[in-house]
Amino acid sequence: MSRYRTVLWDLDGTIADTLPLIRDSLRHAAVQVLGAAPPEDVLVRNIFMPLADQMRAFDAERVDDLCAAYLEWNHAVSRERLGAHDGMVDLVRDLAAAGVAQGIASSKSRRGVALALEILGLEDVFGAVVTPDEVEAHKPDPAPLLRALELMGRGQDGACYVGDALTDVAAARAAGVDAISVVWGFYDAEALAGAEPDAVAHTAADLRTILGLAA
Ligand SMILES: [Mg+2]
Repeated sequence: MSRYRTVLWDLDGTIADTLPLIRDSLRHAAVQVLGAAPPEDVLVRNIFMPLADQMRAFDAERVDDLCAAYLEWNHAVSRERLGAHDGMVDLVRDLAAAGVAQGIASSKSRRGVALALEILGLEDVFGAVVTPDEVEAHKPDPAPLLRALELMGRGQDGACYVGDALTDVAAARAAGVDAISVVWGFYDAEALAGAEPDAVAHTAADLRTILGLAA
Protein backbone atom coordinates (compact mmCIF):
# COMPACT_ATOMS: atom_id res chain seq x y z
CA MET A 1 0.00 0.00 0.00
CA SER A 2 1.07 3.55 -0.64
CA ARG A 3 -0.49 6.93 0.03
CA TYR A 4 -0.34 7.50 -3.74
CA ARG A 5 -1.81 5.44 -6.57
CA THR A 6 0.38 7.20 -9.10
CA VAL A 7 3.94 8.44 -8.66
CA LEU A 8 5.53 10.53 -11.40
CA TRP A 9 9.28 11.04 -11.27
CA ASP A 10 11.90 13.45 -12.42
CA LEU A 11 14.98 11.44 -13.40
CA ASP A 12 18.23 13.48 -13.22
CA GLY A 13 19.14 14.41 -9.66
CA THR A 14 16.13 12.53 -8.26
CA ILE A 15 16.47 8.84 -9.18
CA ALA A 16 19.68 9.03 -11.23
CA ASP A 17 22.84 10.54 -9.75
CA THR A 18 23.71 12.35 -12.96
CA LEU A 19 24.39 15.98 -12.08
CA PRO A 20 28.24 15.64 -12.08
CA LEU A 21 28.03 13.74 -15.38
CA ILE A 22 25.78 16.42 -16.91
CA ARG A 23 28.09 19.23 -15.73
CA ASP A 24 31.16 17.48 -17.17
CA SER A 25 29.33 16.75 -20.43
CA LEU A 26 28.40 20.43 -20.79
CA ARG A 27 32.00 21.44 -20.16
CA HIS A 28 33.29 18.87 -22.65
CA ALA A 29 30.91 20.08 -25.38
CA ALA A 30 31.74 23.75 -24.82
CA VAL A 31 35.50 23.14 -24.88
CA GLN A 32 35.32 20.89 -27.95
CA VAL A 33 33.04 23.13 -30.05
CA LEU A 34 33.72 26.65 -28.73
CA GLY A 35 37.29 26.24 -27.48
CA ALA A 36 36.48 27.15 -23.87
CA ALA A 37 33.83 26.47 -21.24
CA PRO A 38 31.94 29.23 -19.43
CA PRO A 39 32.40 29.59 -15.64
CA GLU A 40 30.77 26.91 -13.50
CA ASP A 41 27.70 28.96 -12.51
CA VAL A 42 26.96 29.84 -16.14
CA LEU A 43 27.70 26.27 -17.26
CA VAL A 44 24.90 24.77 -15.16
CA ARG A 45 22.53 27.73 -15.03
CA ASN A 46 19.96 26.18 -17.41
CA ILE A 47 20.51 22.56 -16.38
CA PHE A 48 16.75 21.91 -16.03
CA MET A 49 16.00 22.88 -19.61
CA PRO A 50 16.10 20.52 -22.57
CA LEU A 51 19.65 20.20 -23.92
CA ALA A 52 19.13 22.32 -27.07
CA ASP A 53 17.90 25.23 -24.93
CA GLN A 54 20.96 24.97 -22.67
CA MET A 55 23.25 24.98 -25.72
CA ARG A 56 21.44 27.95 -27.29
CA ALA A 57 22.52 29.98 -24.27
CA PHE A 58 26.17 29.01 -24.94
CA ASP A 59 26.10 29.84 -28.67
CA ALA A 60 22.89 30.07 -30.68
CA GLU A 61 24.82 29.48 -33.95
CA ARG A 62 26.35 26.17 -32.84
CA VAL A 63 23.43 24.40 -31.12
CA ASP A 64 23.54 21.25 -33.26
CA ASP A 65 27.31 20.82 -32.92
CA LEU A 66 27.15 21.42 -29.16
CA CYS A 67 24.34 18.90 -28.69
CA ALA A 68 26.14 16.29 -30.78
CA ALA A 69 29.39 16.75 -28.82
CA TYR A 70 27.50 16.55 -25.52
CA LEU A 71 25.56 13.41 -26.40
CA GLU A 72 28.51 11.56 -27.92
CA TRP A 73 30.65 12.04 -24.82
CA ASN A 74 27.81 11.65 -22.31
CA HIS A 75 26.61 8.36 -23.78
CA ALA A 76 30.16 7.03 -24.14
CA VAL A 77 30.92 7.47 -20.42
CA SER A 78 27.44 6.82 -18.98
CA ARG A 79 27.99 3.13 -18.30
CA GLU A 80 30.90 3.87 -15.98
CA ARG A 81 29.67 7.16 -14.52
CA LEU A 82 25.89 6.90 -14.18
CA GLY A 83 24.45 5.47 -10.95
CA ALA A 84 21.37 5.81 -8.77
CA HIS A 85 21.00 7.93 -5.64
CA ASP A 86 21.13 5.83 -2.47
CA GLY A 87 18.07 3.69 -1.94
CA MET A 88 16.21 4.89 -5.01
CA VAL A 89 16.26 1.75 -7.16
CA ASP A 90 14.87 -0.30 -4.25
CA LEU A 91 12.21 2.34 -3.57
CA VAL A 92 11.03 2.39 -7.18
CA ARG A 93 10.94 -1.41 -7.28
CA ASP A 94 9.07 -1.62 -3.96
CA LEU A 95 6.46 0.89 -5.16
CA ALA A 96 5.97 -1.20 -8.30
CA ALA A 97 5.58 -4.32 -6.17
CA ALA A 98 2.96 -2.47 -4.08
CA GLY A 99 0.94 -1.83 -7.24
CA VAL A 100 1.74 1.88 -7.59
CA ALA A 101 1.71 3.10 -11.20
CA GLN A 102 4.89 5.06 -11.99
CA GLY A 103 5.93 7.32 -14.83
CA ILE A 104 8.88 9.53 -15.80
CA ALA A 105 8.61 13.18 -16.86
CA SER A 106 12.14 14.30 -17.74
CA SER A 107 13.80 17.07 -19.72
CA LYS A 108 16.43 14.59 -20.92
CA SER A 109 16.22 13.20 -24.48
CA ARG A 110 14.28 9.97 -25.02
CA ARG A 111 17.51 8.16 -25.91
CA GLY A 112 19.24 9.50 -22.79
CA VAL A 113 16.38 8.43 -20.52
CA ALA A 114 16.28 4.97 -22.11
CA LEU A 115 20.04 4.56 -21.61
CA ALA A 116 19.83 5.68 -17.97
CA LEU A 117 16.94 3.34 -17.17
CA GLU A 118 18.77 0.45 -18.82
CA ILE A 119 21.94 1.14 -16.80
CA LEU A 120 19.88 1.37 -13.58
CA GLY A 121 17.97 -1.81 -14.43
CA LEU A 122 14.64 0.02 -14.30
CA GLU A 123 13.58 -0.19 -17.95
CA ASP A 124 10.56 -2.40 -17.18
CA VAL A 125 9.00 -0.33 -14.36
CA PHE A 126 7.49 2.82 -15.85
CA GLY A 127 4.07 2.99 -17.48
CA ALA A 128 5.00 6.21 -19.26
CA VAL A 129 8.23 7.98 -20.17
CA VAL A 130 7.75 11.57 -21.32
CA THR A 131 10.71 13.58 -22.66
CA PRO A 132 11.13 16.66 -24.89
CA ASP A 133 10.72 14.22 -27.81
CA GLU A 134 7.09 13.67 -26.72
CA VAL A 135 5.87 17.17 -25.73
CA GLU A 136 6.45 20.71 -26.95
CA ALA A 137 6.32 22.49 -23.60
CA HIS A 138 8.69 21.72 -20.75
CA LYS A 139 8.73 22.04 -16.96
CA PRO A 140 7.68 24.27 -15.23
CA ASP A 141 4.84 23.85 -17.76
CA PRO A 142 2.60 20.97 -16.60
CA ALA A 143 2.46 19.40 -20.10
CA PRO A 144 5.03 16.59 -19.50
CA LEU A 145 3.28 15.51 -16.29
CA LEU A 146 -0.20 15.67 -17.81
CA ARG A 147 0.99 13.70 -20.85
CA ALA A 148 2.44 11.02 -18.55
CA LEU A 149 -0.88 10.73 -16.66
CA GLU A 150 -2.73 10.51 -19.98
CA LEU A 151 -0.43 7.74 -21.26
CA MET A 152 -0.93 5.86 -17.99
CA GLY A 153 -4.70 6.31 -18.04
CA ARG A 154 -4.57 8.04 -14.65
CA GLY A 155 -6.04 11.24 -13.24
CA GLN A 156 -4.57 13.77 -10.81
CA ASP A 157 -6.33 12.12 -7.86
CA GLY A 158 -3.84 10.26 -5.68
CA ALA A 159 -0.92 11.37 -7.84
CA CYS A 160 2.33 13.13 -6.99
CA TYR A 161 5.47 14.33 -8.79
CA VAL A 162 8.85 13.82 -7.15
CA GLY A 163 11.76 16.01 -8.22
CA ASP A 164 14.91 17.86 -7.12
CA ALA A 165 14.25 21.22 -8.82
CA LEU A 166 12.17 24.31 -8.21
CA THR A 167 10.69 23.85 -11.69
CA ASP A 168 9.53 20.37 -10.60
CA VAL A 169 7.49 21.90 -7.76
CA ALA A 170 5.97 24.45 -10.15
CA ALA A 171 5.13 21.78 -12.75
CA ALA A 172 3.47 19.60 -10.10
CA ARG A 173 1.39 22.54 -8.83
CA ALA A 174 0.31 23.47 -12.35
CA ALA A 175 -0.58 19.85 -13.12
CA GLY A 176 -2.72 19.59 -9.98
CA VAL A 177 -0.72 16.81 -8.31
CA ASP A 178 1.18 16.81 -5.00
CA ALA A 179 4.73 18.19 -5.20
CA ILE A 180 7.43 16.26 -3.35
CA SER A 181 11.00 17.59 -3.30
CA VAL A 182 14.22 15.66 -2.68
CA VAL A 183 17.31 17.45 -1.35
CA TRP A 184 20.05 15.25 -2.88
CA GLY A 185 19.93 16.89 -6.31
CA PHE A 186 20.68 20.40 -7.52
CA TYR A 187 19.03 22.48 -4.76
CA ASP A 188 19.50 22.47 -1.00
CA ALA A 189 16.68 22.00 1.50
CA GLU A 190 16.29 25.72 2.18
CA ALA A 191 15.83 26.64 -1.48
CA LEU A 192 13.33 23.84 -2.00
CA ALA A 193 11.36 24.69 1.14
CA GLY A 194 10.98 28.22 -0.27
CA ALA A 195 9.03 26.76 -3.20
CA GLU A 196 6.59 25.28 -0.67
CA PRO A 197 6.28 21.71 -1.91
CA ASP A 198 3.83 19.41 -0.10
CA ALA A 199 6.77 17.51 1.41
CA VAL A 200 10.58 17.51 1.41
CA ALA A 201 12.56 14.25 1.59
CA HIS A 202 16.11 14.31 2.97
CA THR A 203 16.79 10.61 2.35
CA ALA A 204 15.24 7.76 0.39
CA ALA A 205 13.93 6.43 3.73
CA ASP A 206 12.22 9.79 4.28
CA LEU A 207 10.71 9.60 0.82
CA ARG A 208 9.47 6.08 1.52
CA THR A 209 7.62 7.44 4.57
CA ILE A 210 6.22 10.43 2.67
CA LEU A 211 4.90 8.10 -0.04
CA GLY A 212 3.30 6.02 2.71
CA LEU A 213 5.11 2.84 1.73
CA ALA A 214 5.62 0.46 4.63
CA ALA A 215 9.32 0.08 5.58
MG1 LIG B 1 16.15 16.85 -11.79
